[in-house]
Amino acid sequence: MTTFEEKKVPYVNETCIGCGACVAICNEVFDLDDDWKAFAIEWMDSSNATWIDDAISACPVNAIHYK
Ligand code: SF4
Repeated sequence: MTTFEEKKVPYVNETCIGCGACVAICNEVFDLDDDWKAFAIEWMDSSNATWIDDAISACPVNAIHYK
């Protein structure tokens, strides 16, 4: 498992279709903007690391990556 020190900040690219899955999985890290595109909130809490990995796996268009 990747540790907090090894992990980078997630970001959402332009392929997001606004399905909301990442927000449902981890709303402490992901949110939807007014155009229904997801974005990553500043991530400072290592307790969210597993949820971020789950959101990456759940994204239907592979729009979430680490910087
Ligand atoms: S799971 Fe993927 S497609 Fe769905 S809102 Fe999040 S980034 Fe966008």
